[in-house]
Amino acid sequence: MPKVGILGCEATTRDMDCVMIGCFGNLRGRQGMFERYTEDDPPELVGIISCGGCPTAFGTDRVWQKVRALKEYGIEALHLTSCLVQVCPFLKEFTEAIRTEYPDLQIVEGTHPFHDIDAFKAGVKELTTQRAVTPQKMNDLVFRRIKIHSEEDEKEANE
Ligand code: SF4
Repeated sequence: MPKVGILGCEATTRDMDCVMIGCFGNLRGRQGMFERYTEDDPPELVGIISCGGCPTAFGTDRVWQKVRALKEYGIEALHLTSCLVQVCPFLKEFTEAIRTEYPDLQIVEGTHPFHDIDAFKAGVKELTTQRAVTPQKMNDLVFRRIKIHSEEDEKEANE
């Protein structure tokens, strides 16, 4: 069984609460970018790790540490999540840094397909910027405009 690891986008997992349902579903079914594995020799998922967060102008090299955590368990292939591939501005730099550090590691760009890539990108933009439903912050409390969740809200939500 080929040992594989997944490198994810920290922003989508930490800030957007992505539970990687598409990645795991495609892995189990050997679909999407896991089609390359055969039924007789299915992939064994060793682990997942996130990139560590947007690296600013200085830190793309840090990704080697994240990959090392998986590499030490003997992964042969590293799948970059489809989110990372589609929305990460550091994709090229990450790939180059990983390739330089681990030349024998197969890097696969993607995990699952998208039904509508433009809708996905528009959705991620909204989740990142939160324009449609503005989150409340400390200033809302200080300026006394904070909205407090009530039992009536709960009832309405459940109707
Ligand atoms: S560096 Fe790329 S993969 Fe990591 S959190 Fe930022 S956008 Fe996501």
